[in-house]
Amino acid sequence: MPAAPAAPWSAGSLIQASYFVTAVLFITGLKRMSSPVSARSGIVWAGAGMLVATLVTFAYPGMSNYPLISAAIVLGAALAWWSGKQVAMTNMPQMIALYNGMGGGAAASIAAVELYRGGSGGAVGTTLAVAGGLIGAVSFSGSAIAFGKLQGLIKRSIRFRGQQIVSLLLLAAAVVHGVLAIAHPGDSSVYVTGLLIFALLLGLAMTLPIGGADMPVVISLYNALTGLAVGFEGFALHNAAMIIAGTVVGSAGTLLTQLMAKAMNRSLGNVLFSGFGEGSAAGGGEVSGSLKPIEASDVGVMLAFAQKVIVVPGYGMAVAQAQHKIWELCQLLIDRGVTVRFAIHPVAGRMPGHMNVLLAEAGVPYDLIGDLEEINGEFETADVALVIGANDVVNPVARTDKSSPIYGMPILNADRAQNVIVIKRGQGAGFSGIENALFYLDNTRMLYGDAQKVGSALIAAVKALS
Ligand code: NDP
Repeated sequence: MPAAPAAPWSAGSLIQASYFVTAVLFITGLKRMSSPVSARSGIVWAGAGMLVATLVTFAYPGMSNYPLISAAIVLGAALAWWSGKQVAMTNMPQMIALYNGMGGGAAASIAAVELYRGGSGGAVGTTLAVAGGLIGAVSFSGSAIAFGKLQGLIKRSIRFRGQQIVSLLLLAAAVVHGVLAIAHPGDSSVYVTGLLIFALLLGLAMTLPIGGADMPVVISLYNALTGLAVGFEGFALHNAAMIIAGTVVGSAGTLLTQLMAKAMNRSLGNVLFSGFGEGSAAGGGEVSGSLKPIEASDVGVMLAFAQKVIVVPGYGMAVAQAQHKIWELCQLLIDRGVTVRFAIHPVAGRMPGHMNVLLAEAGVPYDLIGDLEEINGEFETADVALVIGANDVVNPVARTDKSSPIYGMPILNADRAQNVIVIKRGQGAGFSGIENALFYLDNTRMLYGDAQKVGSALIAAVKALS
């Protein structure tokens, strides 16, 4: 009998083809996440990519321990599902820090397994595993500290003299142990242990001194590092899906880090080494003048008879979940012929794109929303800047006071509007912990209360005029 023709598709090529599909799904997902209109579907596309990659990996030649792997996946997925459902929108940054740290820890664990068993890819494979292990361990412990700070578990930044030298020494010690692990592949457990311990300490030493206001940049930096670590481990394990996922996360994280640093007008080195963002402890001049309260009924009249109103949403609007009420109010104003626009600062709220997500959820049309560069020139033509639970992103000391911890951060020019109405509950400071000079200006009035309740009162006040 003639031999059966060889199958055109071997298991190996099917796996590689599936990884190609995974890459297409990841990249399409990421592309769709770049706009609020398609962001939800982007998550589904990228999730489908992850599902394909995970399922296909089960067919990998030489795989074993299926029950253990399945149990870990079920446990991890259940925890992620539960915590994802529980988490409030305002706690999303710490959730991201936590998940990101898990990614870094997973990459470091893969490196540890590879290195403790002597590495499988020769000197190059071992070098990549060492690099991934170092970066992954730094990202793991650094993200854990970022989580602690954002969750309020670590209340202050820890600084001491010679801190940067300590970090440099820890880095040098980790690198030396990594080099020794590469040089002695058969007998490297002591060096691998040293590499991981020093890398973990480096993550702690790098992150403990960084102040709260810089955490957005730090989280996205660790996100980029985790991607890089996963990519390196993908090379070490010859796993295309890990290389692709790591590269995509690494490059997206790097771009986001740059954008965030630019939004705060800081260099990355300045973020990592200057100890910015310590609130009042870090300086900032005294603000003079008095706070002038106003009633909702008076603000209702002011808004209803304005020609142009610019709404500046901030973290307080997110906490109060006031976006629906605010949009209802704006629709009433638009019906009366008032021009309404929304001004979004890149670091308003507690995560990148936080305000865009909330406004999209409330149904605000995208053409009414302007980002910082686009809308800043318009404040001078606005009758009212309606600041809702925003504080740091409208603090004029960022322009003028060199001793202020937010000096140099571009802000929304709300102070240049004819009138400024600030909605907040009381004297609470913003994330950076400093006084806001805007609240004391002659053209500013304070409308005290929870943003959602005040939103309802303003709706009633405007309706009462028609
Ligand atoms: P801020 O954190 O500066 O200020 C928020 C203000 O909202 C507070 O002053 C508070 O005053 C008020 N507020 C709180 N709850 C309510 C409520 N229920 N109703 C009405 N007001 C309320 O917010 P911004 O958005 O202006 O600035 C964001 C800050 O967060 C920046 O410093 C940024 O660097 C930082 N950050 C940003 C991240 C990001 O990725 N976007 C991530 C992490 C930090 P009161 O208590 O008196 O009501």
